[in-house]
Amino acid sequence: MRADGDSWGRYPRAGHTRVALHDRLAALPGFSGTALPYGNGRSYGDSCQNPGGTLLQARGLDRFIGFDPQSGRLQCEAGTTLEEIVSVTLPQGWFLPVTPGTSQVTVGGAIANDVHGKNHHRCGSFGHHVVAFELLRSDGSRRLCQAEDDADGWFAATVGGLGLTGLVTWAELQLRRVPGTSLEVENIRFGSLGEFFALSRASAPTHEYSVAWIDCLASGPRLGRGHFTRANHAPQRTDERPPPPRRRLAMPFTPPVSLVNRLSLRPFNALYYWRQPARRTRSVAHLLPFFHPLDSIAHWNRMYGPRGFLQYQCVLPPAAAQEGVAALLGEIARSGQGSFLAVLKQFGDMPARGMLSFPRPGTTLALDFPNTGTAVLELLQRLDRIVDAGGGALYPAKDARMAGHSFQRAYPDWQAFSRYLDPRFSSGFWRRVTE
Ligand SMILES: Cc1cc2nc3c(=O)[nH]c(=O)nc-3n(C[C@H](O)[C@H](O)[C@H](O)COP(=O)(O)OP(=O)(O)OC[C@H]3O[C@@H](n4cnc5c(N)ncnc54)[C@H](O)[C@@H]3O)c2cc1C
Repeated sequence: MRADGDSWGRYPRAGHTRVALHDRLAALPGFSGTALPYGNGRSYGDSCQNPGGTLLQARGLDRFIGFDPQSGRLQCEAGTTLEEIVSVTLPQGWFLPVTPGTSQVTVGGAIANDVHGKNHHRCGSFGHHVVAFELLRSDGSRRLCQAEDDADGWFAATVGGLGLTGLVTWAELQLRRVPGTSLEVENIRFGSLGEFFALSRASAPTHEYSVAWIDCLASGPRLGRGHFTRANHAPQRTDERPPPPRRRLAMPFTPPVSLVNRLSLRPFNALYYWRQPARRTRSVAHLLPFFHPLDSIAHWNRMYGPRGFLQYQCVLPPAAAQEGVAALLGEIARSGQGSFLAVLKQFGDMPARGMLSFPRPGTTLALDFPNTGTAVLELLQRLDRIVDAGGGALYPAKDARMAGHSFQRAYPDWQAFSRYLDPRFSSGFWRRVTE
């Protein structure tokens, strides 16, 4: 049994027995108690943890099985990362139709959280592009799950199913053609939340990708100010540059205290807001740093110190979004406990394929908070009340502390989903929100 921070937020800490998997054709190894598949640990809280139990480490299942450069169909083992996929397919003109803010996630993890990117309004979430996968259950049975033939519901239960229905051993994905490796990017500084919503509405029909950074410490008339970024794939250019080097920087050690604190946050947010003097800029950028800006700093999560940090990501439905986001930002600004990275984006209305998928119509806000103990936990409870009142939902992949009643209200299919649980699989998250 080893105790360390298995999740990206390094909170909570949990002890696990770890078993590394390397062969998709082999049976699951024996384990006592319960087990949980584990991808690359890029979930922030306890949805990738199983305290006191076993983690089935799937990262070793990293072989490509097949790729058809005519159709863009890819089959690979579930521990393959999105970065590994793109390194093979992008030079052949194929990219992921949906990619989250880091490429360091596995296909199994992307399926289990039905992850989303900056183009949900156009392309939905990861599960919309999964054609099929194999599910290995703890009793040794194997099930082929197909998007187009899911009468028994195993596909819908496993997409967004938090790793609880069994181990995904391999998957088939439909990639998308891209004209090249560049994006035409426009960055617009805006002064209020109202402007964010207006820019989102205007950009939905014209731009495939959009996202905003918010200065979460600004208050009063400046509440909700930030930068809106929108982009489209650029036509192929003859002078396209090779992708930038994978990692230039690293946080080499964990500092004794968080470097993210009240002293550093306010100037960072203000400087970031004023980093671009012009109100509107246009540029052409390589798509990899655009989609995964933090991947160039290895172990950046260490800057939060030994106590780790919590991410808070919620979605509010359209009718409650503007008022609800204003209330959330007001509460955060009053607390002084801000975030380096406050991200706001608009989801589209494509119905999710997963029974427990997080993406749904509305506006999603994501913030990181240093773990200051009671102070931050109380703030997050105040934020929960705003999300609950607005009929919103919190994202399990980012969560380490939501209450069971919040989960059960926001994910009303959780009981129907329970029928698909593997009886020997469990997680810290699942026990917390259902028991
Ligand atoms: C910097 C950063 C940016 C991010 N940006 C986004 C974003 O924009 N959008 C978004 O949606 N998410 C985002 N995330 C969250 C991340 O995409 C998800 O948490 C993702 O699921 C992590 O995948 P993983 O391979 O690390 O899996 P883990 O975190 O190890 O596990 C995640 C879940 O997948 C299950 N699982 C893993 N492998 C398998 C398998 N083979 N079979 C069955 N279940 C399995 C686990 O049991 C667990 O429930 C971000 C995370 C980081 C660190």
